[in-house]
Amino acid sequence: MRIDIITIFPEMFVGPFTESIIKRAVEKKIVDIHTHNLRDYSTDRHKRVDDYPFAAGAGMVMMVEPVDNCISKLKSEREYDEVIYMSPDGELLNQSMANTMSMLNNIIVLCGHYKGIDERIRKYLITKEISIGDYVLSGGELGAAVLVDSLVRLIPGALGDETSALSDSFQDGLVSPPVYTRPRNYKGWQVPDVLISGNDRLINEWKYEQALARTKERRPEMYEIFKKNENV
Ligand code: SAH
Repeated sequence: MRIDIITIFPEMFVGPFTESIIKRAVEKKIVDIHTHNLRDYSTDRHKRVDDYPFAAGAGMVMMVEPVDNCISKLKSEREYDEVIYMSPDGELLNQSMANTMSMLNNIIVLCGHYKGIDERIRKYLITKEISIGDYVLSGGELGAAVLVDSLVRLIPGALGDETSALSDSFQDGLVSPPVYTRPRNYKGWQVPDVLISGNDRLINEWKYEQALARTKERRPEMYEIFKKNENV
């Protein structure tokens, strides 16, 4: 998978993309991530990428031309499955979207700033708009980093233990059961006996019951959907 990120703050991705799972995925050539500084595509001699909004109003607006220049250049080099704009009013990112998108070949992710981007970019250049939650960030970079992380860890080979993404929360419509590690007893805080029983059937039953109970308690709306689908 190739991911091209268009941003005015490429440095913001240095941390998120140079550590942990994404770092390893890049090294293993599972994913190829490129950041493009939007200012390099400005034709203005001050490298401006924003301007005042028409009809007054507060805040600056990102201009069409630099974004169009950058996207056009990328599109002339390869085909893209999606040109994504990170936006608070976009489709809410969830695990099933991440699953679907992790199978794409090439995507562009545009990070907005200020008051947002000129609506014509959204109308003529963007194919998908994604939000990471119902709150407003100062820029699309943190959202893009969240999106990229959620996709990359699902690409086969990215996680050390290939099955581990499948047992994560949301993959099967439930949140994850609790997990424990050694020691069995810490200051009298015990690990549930069943997990040490060695009985796989009992252990799997326990995990399922726990996942079910947690989902019911923490995510009642998700539990209702699960119940309907599985006839629990
Ligand atoms: N005026 C806009 C917010 C602009 S915030 C509005 O009210 O909708 C500046 C930029 O941050 C946006 O262009 C977008 O790229 C990014 N952003 C803000 N909140 C986001 C969210 N919840 N999810 C994804 N991107 C977000």
